[in-house]
Amino acid sequence: MTNPTIDAPATPSAPPPVPTKDASQLRQKRMIAEHFDKLEQVPETGRKAVYTFVPGNLTELLGALDLLPVLPEINALQSGMRGKSRDYIMEAEKSGHSEDVCTYVKCDLGMKHSGNVSPTGTKLPDPNLLLLSYTGCFTFLKWFELLREEYGCPVAMLHVPYQADGKITPEMRRYVVDQLEKKVIPALEKIAGKKLDMDELSRRLELSRQAEDDLVAVWESAKHKPSPIDGYFGGVYYVGPIFSAFRGTEDAREYYRELRAEVEERMARGLGPITPDGELTEERYRLVVEGPPNWTSFNDFWRMFSREGAVVVASTYTKVGGLYDTGFRHDPDRPLETLAEYCLNCYTNHCLPNRVDLLEHYLREYQADGFLINSVKSCNSFSVGQLLMLRKLEERTGLPGGFIESDLVDPRYFGKANIENRVQSYLQMLESRRKGRYA
Ligand code: SF4
Repeated sequence: MTNPTIDAPATPSAPPPVPTKDASQLRQKRMIAEHFDKLEQVPETGRKAVYTFVPGNLTELLGALDLLPVLPEINALQSGMRGKSRDYIMEAEKSGHSEDVCTYVKCDLGMKHSGNVSPTGTKLPDPNLLLLSYTGCFTFLKWFELLREEYGCPVAMLHVPYQADGKITPEMRRYVVDQLEKKVIPALEKIAGKKLDMDELSRRLELSRQAEDDLVAVWESAKHKPSPIDGYFGGVYYVGPIFSAFRGTEDAREYYRELRAEVEERMARGLGPITPDGELTEERYRLVVEGPPNWTSFNDFWRMFSREGAVVVASTYTKVGGLYDTGFRHDPDRPLETLAEYCLNCYTNHCLPNRVDLLEHYLREYQADGFLINSVKSCNSFSVGQLLMLRKLEERTGLPGGFIESDLVDPRYFGKANIENRVQSYLQMLESRRKGRYA
């Protein structure tokens, strides 16, 4: 997730609007470029790289030990946005990975087999350690088993118990803290060649807490009418720093401070979100979206909504790396417990009833007109149970749900005309209901 360099629109009759580059966007772009430079310079600097996942990431811990995180999921989605994922997926399928395998995994393996050059064009270092934070998705296990074979490097696994009953018990927290103390931190210290400084970890957790406060203010701005943000298509850019290598850094804190100020200014001026075609001037529909976006046709997908005046006021996908808007904050006074609670509280680690409750909360709190589910072929972690969610939410709220299907980074599964038809039919149905022509 990089800075939103929104493509110029393909409107033949009008000159394309100049995309707005806010200070926060420029900062995010610089942060990402610097991080990839550090990764490319590993052969000279001797710094150590740890590959890990977005949900359940332990970025403050890695930072406190001067380790450099690499997030394969983010590389995969970036490859999708930059038109590189098709070839990588084909490469992985040629070497025997089935069509049914999560396309993030195949994209990552294909990228590795093609030289492990990052989506931004810099060479990635091999991992010194694979930090497998297991937060509800079985694919995470298989993915890092494959990478362990590819790179011949060790794996440190953090097993996070699933929230099967919808709550975190003291035993679950203790179980995760024990693993951090006895397995994960020693493995990281061994790679880093030094002991963990708990004061440095707490300092970083305080920076995380501050950034999380500002991010939540950004999400909640969408309760305003019109919403100054799009909490899904725009939201994926906002979570870039906090979901990737930067949580617990001064840069991330400053990014969220700037972003919040920019969003609050837009809200005070009554402005809508920036879209690929410039500013949205009329908010006609307020939607909640469940499920990850498609990355290979991201702007086309976004335009299907923005050109109809549809704004996504809340989404679950933008919470996949941290559910801060339900109250969780990293707590610098309880460093290991707070890391455990963060992992336990990841969206992918929540049971279906919790997910339905969260979506219902969003529909009510953000005064949405309805909700849409983007069911992606790749991701069982998100897609299982989505039809049940649809029915439950319609029953509980009386609001209509829509269902579309695509994929994360496999362009073969993005049927533009079909998806566009479904989105338009759904929005027309909302319009008819509004005018009282639809029961
Ligand atoms: S199945 Fe879903 S959650 Fe699991 S690795 Fe793939 S995209 Fe991520």
